[in-house]
Amino acid sequence: SVVITGATGHLGRLVVADLLAQGLPADRITATGRDAGRLAALAATGVRTARADLDDPESLKAAFQGADTLLLISGSEVGRRVPQHTNAVRAAQEAGIGHIVYTSAPRADDTTLVLAPEHKATEEVLAASGVPATILRNGWYNENYGQQLDRARESGVVTGSVGGGKVASASRQDYAEAASAVLRAPEAHAGAVYELSGDTAWTYPELARDLGEVLGREVVYRDLTPEEHLAALTAAGLDEGTAGFVVALDANIRDGELEAAGGELSRLIGRPTTPLAETLRALA
Ligand code: NDP
Repeated sequence: SVVITGATGHLGRLVVADLLAQGLPADRITATGRDAGRLAALAATGVRTARADLDDPESLKAAFQGADTLLLISGSEVGRRVPQHTNAVRAAQEAGIGHIVYTSAPRADDTTLVLAPEHKATEEVLAASGVPATILRNGWYNENYGQQLDRARESGVVTGSVGGGKVASASRQDYAEAASAVLRAPEAHAGAVYELSGDTAWTYPELARDLGEVLGREVVYRDLTPEEHLAALTAAGLDEGTAGFVVALDANIRDGELEAAGGELSRLIGRPTTPLAETLRALA
């Protein structure tokens, strides 16, 4: 049976739905998260649910009891994730879990991506644990760009500081199906590290074109220097830390850290990945 952390989140819910759609019996799936209200919605699908907090080792151990395979979906509290993920790996060991699947980041062990250090450290904790594992190094979600829709609709402009950098994004559904495929046959994927990303890498002018098509208006990409970008974000009300983080991520994109489109995701799910425009259309 399978236990999933972060099952109350966007990705986790899609993984649970795909496991059910692929015929895994509901009583062999335990969905966990912190939010009891969101767990109740999951329970309505027939799966087992358990409240599990990555900050609370006892809750994790109890939730993992009796499961064979754990999907550890990386937590969403940046800066707190190494101790949290370590708690999950320790709890899995104590509960006798036989295989851990972890959602990491592109080339986590060899990238300047500002989000990578916590993922790299988690991968190291996993390797040191000795529990057979599969690393899903998930690239960017198409859905991350849904938040551009409103601004583009109003202003016709997308701003950033990525230059000619490209992003090989895919939909959350694509990544969820990959996780589901691994969870349904973990032995076949033991020790694997998958670099998962969309089949095509797009530029920000292409993002603007897609937004324009979806919105039925002209949308252009305006490239700023990192300094201009930082000033624009703080003027728009972002705090210094968040604005700096966004600009650092754009520098990562400019440097090509998110552009690899090696096809591993489409191979795992047995179909092409979802184009950015298709996701934007569904979100508009
Ligand atoms: P969501 O924010 O929708 O979901 C995050 C999940 O993590 C929720 O189920 C939440 O539980 C759970 N969680 C967070 N902190 C804790 C904790 N302390 N204890 C237990 N559960 C916790 O993110 P997504 O589903 O969209 O993405 C999954 C993960 O992927 C993110 O958490 C993040 O690490 C990463 N990510 C990747 C992106 C990409 O483009 N590749 C973009 C954004 C995030 P609850 O709701 O019950 O509190």
